[in-house]
Amino acid sequence: NVRVRFCPSPTGSPHVGLVRTALFNWAFARHHGGTIVFRMEDTDKERSTQESYDAILDLWRWLGLDWDEGIEVGGPHGPYRQSERGDIYRDVLARLRDSSYTYDCFCTNEEVDARRKASGSKVMGYDGFCRDLDPAQRAAWEAEGRRPIVRFRMPGGSITWNDLVRGDITFETENVPDYALSRANGDPLYTLVNPVDDALMGITHVLRGEDLLSSTPRQLALFDALVELGVASGVPEYGHLPYVMGQGNKKLSKRDPEAHALAYRDQGFLPEGLLNYLALLGWAIAADRDIFTMDEMVAAFDIRDVNPNPARFDLKKAEAINASHMRLLSVEEITDRVLPFLKDAGVVSDPVTDADAQLLELAMPLVAERINKLSEAADMLAFLFVDEAAFTRDEADVEKLLNDDGRAVVTRALAKLETVDTWSTASIQEALQAELVDAMGLKPRNAFGPVRVAVTGRRVSPPLFESMELLGRERSLGRLQSALA
Ligand code: GLU
Repeated sequence: NVRVRFCPSPTGSPHVGLVRTALFNWAFARHHGGTIVFRMEDTDKERSTQESYDAILDLWRWLGLDWDEGIEVGGPHGPYRQSERGDIYRDVLARLRDSSYTYDCFCTNEEVDARRKASGSKVMGYDGFCRDLDPAQRAAWEAEGRRPIVRFRMPGGSITWNDLVRGDITFETENVPDYALSRANGDPLYTLVNPVDDALMGITHVLRGEDLLSSTPRQLALFDALVELGVASGVPEYGHLPYVMGQGNKKLSKRDPEAHALAYRDQGFLPEGLLNYLALLGWAIAADRDIFTMDEMVAAFDIRDVNPNPARFDLKKAEAINASHMRLLSVEEITDRVLPFLKDAGVVSDPVTDADAQLLELAMPLVAERINKLSEAADMLAFLFVDEAAFTRDEADVEKLLNDDGRAVVTRALAKLETVDTWSTASIQEALQAELVDAMGLKPRNAFGPVRVAVTGRRVSPPLFESMELLGRERSLGRLQSALA
C-alpha cells in the first residue's frame, strides 16, 4: 500500500516548487490508490507562522489537492503538527542515545572550525572529534556546564539507493559527516523529526525536491537505526524531483514574484490551469500534448517518467495553459468563477442584485472567450455595470482614439444612431456600417475604435454592437455625447 506525505514547513508564502512537489505526490498516490498523509513541519519556532500555515491550507483547498490523513482530517498517527509531537521525538532521541548509532558531542562550531583550519582539511561539517570521547574530557566539559548535542554516527562504506527519478545514486560516507539530531537544549532538528515521522507514519515513498538529495544518505543511515530499534518497519523509497529554474537560469527563489503560488489564484488563474502547468515542470503526458485534466494526469502518472533535468518556469506558458483551460469551460461555469472577482473589483455588489445578475447572464457570452484569466472580466465588464455618474474612460485610449478625427467619427455616429428606432445589435451594426464605413469611407478599425472608446471607455472590450445593445439606447447615446463634451 502506497503512503506518501505532504510535509511543508509553514515559513513564508508558499512557493510554486512546493506545489509541484505536492502535485507529484498526489498524482502518484492517487494513481496507485494510495494514502496521502499531511503533516506540518513546524518545529522551527522562529520561522514558522500561523499565517503561512493558513496560506498553505487555503492553497491546497483551492487547488483541490486533497489528503486522507493528517491535519484537519485526523488519523491514527497524529498529532500531525510537528510542534505537538515533542514527546515522541524526545522518546526516540532517548532510545537513539542509548544505542551506538549516536554519540554525545560537546564541540562548539568555533572549535570545529579551528580544527579544520589547523588540519587544512577540505571536508566541511563535523570531524568526528567526540566519537570516542575520553570520559575524563567528557566529565571536564560537563563540569564546565556544557551540554551535549546528539550526533548521528555515519557508518563506513557507501550508501546506494535506486532513486525513483534518477536511478542508482551512491554516496561514499566518508563525504557525509556525522550530523546533529538535536540542539543542546534537547530540541530535535529536521534531520531527526522528518525521518522519524516518515517511519511512524508508515511512509513508503518520499518524493521531494532535488535540494534535499544530499540529506538522503543521512536519512537512509538513520532509517537503518530506526528499523533496528523497532521505530520503523521499513525504509521508504526516494525520488528527487528536478529543480525549477527561473530567470537567467537561476533556481526560482522566494524573491521571484512568479514563485508565489497564491498570487495565481488572486490573479484569476484556474486551479486546473495552474496544476496543469506545474505538472509540466518535469513531467509530460505525451510528447505532443500539453493540456490535460487532473484525472488524466492521475491515470497516466508514472514517477519513473519524471525528467531529472532542471525544468524552466515560464510564466507566458503558464498563462497560455490557463487560457486553454478557460476555453474548456462553459459560459455558466466561467460566470460562476468570475463572480467573486467582479464582487472584489466592485463591478457588482455582494450579494449581486437581480438586475445585475440578469445583465451578467447576457454579457458573459460576450467575454467568456476573450479572457485568459478570471480577473480580466472585471475590466471588460465594468462599463456595463457602472453608474453613469461614475463612468470613466481610459486616458491613454482617449488620447489615442478620441482625437479630432475620432471626435468627427463619434459626431457622425451619434447623429446616425439617434435615428435608429429599434435598438438591437443588428440595427446598430447596420447604421454604423452605413454611416461610417460606406458613407465616410473609413476602414472598420478607424470607424469603430473611437465609438468603442466613447461607449465602453476602453480600446479592448466585448464586441461593440452587442455591448451597445446591452447598454441600451439612452446610455449609449449619452456616452457618445459625453465623449464629445
Ligand atoms: N519540510 C521540509 C521542507 O519543506 C520537507 C522535506 C522533505 O520533503 O523531506 O523542505
